[in-house]
Amino acid sequence: MEILSQLRKYNYQQVVFCNDNSSGLKAIIAVHDTTLGPALGGVRMWPYASEEEALEDVLRLSRGMTYKASVSGCNLGGGKSVIIGDPKTQKTEALLRAMGRFIHSLGGKYICGQDIGTNSHDMAVIQQETPFASCVHEKAGGPGDPSFATAWGVKTGTQAILKAVYGSDSLTDRRIAIQGVGNVGYFVAKYCHEEGAKIIAADISEELLKRVSDEFAAEIVGIDDIYGVECDVFSPCAFGAVVNDDTIDKFKCKGISGSANNVLKENRHGMELQKRGIFYGPDYLVNSGGLIHCQEEVLGEVVKERVLEKVSRIYDQTLQVFKKAEEEGISTAEASDRIAEERIKSISEIGRIWAE
Ligand code: NAD
Repeated sequence: MEILSQLRKYNYQQVVFCNDNSSGLKAIIAVHDTTLGPALGGVRMWPYASEEEALEDVLRLSRGMTYKASVSGCNLGGGKSVIIGDPKTQKTEALLRAMGRFIHSLGGKYICGQDIGTNSHDMAVIQQETPFASCVHEKAGGPGDPSFATAWGVKTGTQAILKAVYGSDSLTDRRIAIQGVGNVGYFVAKYCHEEGAKIIAADISEELLKRVSDEFAAEIVGIDDIYGVECDVFSPCAFGAVVNDDTIDKFKCKGISGSANNVLKENRHGMELQKRGIFYGPDYLVNSGGLIHCQEEVLGEVVKERVLEKVSRIYDQTLQVFKKAEEEGISTAEASDRIAEERIKSISEIGRIWAE
């Protein structure tokens, strides 16, 4: 891969390759854009098949974080890091602390959080080497897992869809089909159930299905059947690319709002949903509650009520995206990208004013 030309194409600021022979750490930190603030994004640990695959992933993910922070109104930039390795067998204290030292060497330009293959306990280990770590576990004095905040945003995005479809955002008697009732999906079920919705759920874990069935009287369907469930909103909370050529004709929902990243397999699927009259809440907007939670942590203190209040703004932001998509004849995913880019551009321009 021509690395520098790749960085130039999407305007990446910096990519740092990290190696530590003693702990076995092999990692890449990518800082995409810091116009709005320090770059915040998770540390993903994954047994990548090649270094090229790891680089592609960290570049794609860090750029995605720039858009997520911008569209959700956070004063954060976009960054991400990947550790090449198997989190089940290769994650050690020394490796995480070595990662912490590399993060610290960037002087606050990049703030890490948890991601696939890492958790809030790992962030507490990294924090031993640097204050530039978020999602730190409660036992280490941090606010812990932000999944509840992500779920609140997904619920809020769901309500924006209901408002656009029915003129009312009430969840009472609405049918919400949730794919994956893990950390985020469980709370989406809980919040929607508490406001009167009927929950339909699919998961590969019998234990997690039993929990939502017992607690929220959720109707359980098979993992292949969840796409075709008659419902108001389909909520993908397991994995990405679930809107694809194989699934798109199965949907019997009015809208999609979930926590999974990269829900659309390809950009064109956004327009395909629109043609079918399905409102798509852009993934990186409706799942930005976790990031908003991290921003509060970076600002000093996480007060749950304040986090939920800030996350609730996703409602207006989602409706703004729908409006722009309609006005400009584009998909909601494209409208979201444009709003994010316009905000970054407008804020970068005020930097011309001398203020120090
Ligand atoms: P999780 O692992 O706790 O939950 C995912 C659930 O999906 C699990 O219960 C798993 O059993 C289930 N699942 C796996 N394969 C499935 C299948 N074929 N059909 C149905 N269910 C299946 O993860 P999470 O933290 O809840 O995150 C869910 C998604 O949201 C992930 O894609 C994650 O990247 C994304 N996300 C999470 C957060 C957060 O705050 N946790 C923030 C932003 C984005």
